[in-house]
Amino acid sequence: MSAGEAFVTLATTDPYCMGATVVAKSLRRHGTTRQIVVMVTPNISEQSRVSLEKVFDEVITVDVMDSEDRLHLALLGRPELGTTFTKIHCWTLTQYSKCVFLDADTLVLCNVDELFERDELSAAPDPGWPDCFNSGVFVFRPSLQTHKKLVNLALQHGSFDRGDQGLLNSFFSSWPVEDIAKHLPFVYNLSANSVYTYLPAFKQFGHNAKIVHFLGPVKPWSSQRLDTMEEFVSQWWKEYHSHTVLPAPM
Ligand code: UDP
Ligand code: MN
Repeated sequence: MSAGEAFVTLATTDPYCMGATVVAKSLRRHGTTRQIVVMVTPNISEQSRVSLEKVFDEVITVDVMDSEDRLHLALLGRPELGTTFTKIHCWTLTQYSKCVFLDADTLVLCNVDELFERDELSAAPDPGWPDCFNSGVFVFRPSLQTHKKLVNLALQHGSFDRGDQGLLNSFFSSWPVEDIAKHLPFVYNLSANSVYTYLPAFKQFGHNAKIVHFLGPVKPWSSQRLDTMEEFVSQWWKEYHSHTVLPAPM
């Protein structure tokens, strides 16, 4: 059963590959029993690919530009939707029955395999508009039919925030009202800016964090320094430089 479940992340550039590496290493450090998979685009360097192959069970190349004529045309005219289409490609991973998507700018702080007990679409509230879920961490069920519907929605209406989060919130529009079990606790997607927006809560509950999300333009690997959550940033670097050994195949 669990062989059919996977954590999935995405990296379309070499810097995001650094982030993806940390996602995989931090999942392994905390002993996940699930597969760990990364989707990449063909432009990443050979060096990045080799690094990813060391820590992921599967490195899947997705060339969204080649995948469907209609999609190809849409992307030519709407380049801003490129990463969105690449991310929603995760619904095509039907070799898995259930997956948890993690942005490449997340850091896992403990075992979070219990997320697989949740159903599609489970996610944590976005700190900027809590009636929207944040699309950095979400539970989903791969399905070609769902993928097709998402592509159609994007082609017809685009995305209200020009990214995957707007599209996914339009598609899973009953999320804020329907089923509280699909609301992940905020500690599964603790974003860096919550330090600014609600410092007392961060002081009180920050130690319960399970997954940290370095949301926003400055990432742990950026040359510009992140001026919040120094502790998590140094933990990110420690994980980046750590050595992990893949478990022996069963
Ligand atoms: N991403 C990527 N290449 C890019 C931008 C984004 O691979 O150039 C992927 C990556 O997995 C990233 C996710 O898309 O974590 C969402 O983007 P980001 O985390 O930068 O958005 P934020 O969480 O800051 O809104
Ligand atoms: Mn992110």
